[in-house]
Amino acid sequence: MISIPQAFLKVIVDAAEAAYPQECCGLLVGRNNGAASCVVTRIVESPNIADGPGTDRFEVDPQIRFQLMKELDLPANQEGPRHRILGHYHSHPDHPAQPSETDLKMAYEPDLIWLITSVVTGQATLTTAHTVSADGAQFRQIPLHTTDWHAYPVRTPPGNAAVKS
Ligand SMILES: [Zn+2]
Repeated sequence: MISIPQAFLKVIVDAAEAAYPQECCGLLVGRNNGAASCVVTRIVESPNIADGPGTDRFEVDPQIRFQLMKELDLPANQEGPRHRILGHYHSHPDHPAQPSETDLKMAYEPDLIWLITSVVTGQATLTTAHTVSADGAQFRQIPLHTTDWHAYPVRTPPGNAAVKS
C-alpha cells in the first residue's frame, strides 16, 4: 500500500491537467511505514524529457533524479534518514489509469512504485498505484490511500457525458 497526503495528490493531479494533452511526470520521495506500506513525504516535479510527440511517453529528467538521490544520501537531508525515492508518477492523457505497453517496456526497476493519473478531455479522473514484478514482466496494482479518502478521487467527471468521450 502507498499512502499519499491529499495535498500531494493534488499537486500530481494539477500537473497532469496542466500538461494535457502531453504527459507530466515526477518523482515520489518517502519512507517505508512497516513492511508492506510506504508513505509519500515529498513530490518532485520534472519536465517530461521524452522524445517525440510526448503524448504516450514520459521520461523523468535524469539530472533531477541524480540530484535528489545525492540529497537524500546526505545525513542532514530535508526529510531525515530512511527516506528514498519511492517511485514516480506520470499522466495518461485520454487513456485509463493503467500501465500501458510502453510503460511495461520501461519497467525494469522492481522496487519503484508507479502512480498513474488518467486525464480525460483535460480533467484528471483517477490515480492508481502499481508495482512491477521482480522479472519486470507485469504490473500489479496496489492500494493507494490518501489522508482524506472522502475526497478521492480528487475530482470526478461532472457527468456520464465526460466519461463517454
Ligand atoms: Zn504510462
